[in-house]
Amino acid sequence: MSLSSSNSSADTANETAGEIPHILADLHCHSRCSDGELTPAALVERAHQQGVTMLALTDHDTTDGIRAAREKGDELGVKLINGIEFSSVWNGMGIHIVGLGFDLEHPVMVAAVAEQEHRRQSRAELIGARLDKLGMPGMLQAATAKADGGQIGRPHFAHAMVESGHVKNIGAAFKRFLGAGKPGDVKAEWPDMTQVVEWIRAAGGTAVIAHPDKYKLTRTKFNLLLKAFVEAGGNGLEVVGSGMERSFSQKMAQCCLDYNLYASQGSDFHGPKPWAELGRLDPMPKDVVPVWSQWV
Ligand code: AMP
Ligand code: MN
Ligand code: MN
Ligand code: MN
Repeated sequence: MSLSSSNSSADTANETAGEIPHILADLHCHSRCSDGELTPAALVERAHQQGVTMLALTDHDTTDGIRAAREKGDELGVKLINGIEFSSVWNGMGIHIVGLGFDLEHPVMVAAVAEQEHRRQSRAELIGARLDKLGMPGMLQAATAKADGGQIGRPHFAHAMVESGHVKNIGAAFKRFLGAGKPGDVKAEWPDMTQVVEWIRAAGGTAVIAHPDKYKLTRTKFNLLLKAFVEAGGNGLEVVGSGMERSFSQKMAQCCLDYNLYASQGSDFHGPKPWAELGRLDPMPKDVVPVWSQWV
């Protein structure tokens, strides 16, 4: 298969079989098209240097960087899998769903991405207005400048707030103003998790619950999430990720078996520091079906 060919997909984990050649997959990372630091090309170059052989660029709510990433991947021999990280809500909670291997040109995906980009812009305006009320004027303009044409996210606001001296660092910006439950945490705008899953599946992709360790859900709540996710067509779960405890990965592997989900892995790299390095991942637990087995 040529490196630039479109991704094929199977419906469920059980449909994939066969020998898997040596492969280092990193299926979750960000470029400057959202809140990452590197250009898509520089990101692929770095992934290649780190020994990554299969990469999905999963920018927040946009597919803008994929073509440039694939061009660089073709040049270096890194296989690019179409990717995105959708923002959504479930039970009043922000949940991120990674889409992998979908058809970039599928009308459902094209419309979904346009919708999400629009939501991101209106949300940014709302965040800006809230910060303004809190005595921090001009943050929307500053965050927009930071995003430099890419999707505006809370990290752009955080950087702007640090630069204007309102907070001493990025951590404080999230802790005081932008993190969960704080005035700048505007998530009511996002679509329901099930909607996002349906978009990805309609476009022939695999829908993956991103960084399940970040939601701090009880076992009961997590099972409810998994049930709703699977019912909507969700078919993947991140089992290995940067900062994820091995024991947690084991639990996620068991969930993959219980719910017939593909197991995914990704660094969630955003930039050289302080984020985890591209491709620096613990081994995938045994017995699960790796999501990348669909693309080798
Ligand atoms: P948004 O996509 O606009 O909702 O912003 C969420 C992004 O902010 C995440 O993808 C991370 O990149 C970043 N983020 C979330 N929490 C923190 C934190 N406590 N410190 C630094 N960055 C964070
Ligand atoms: Mn991010
Ligand atoms: Mn995320
Ligand atoms: Mn991410």
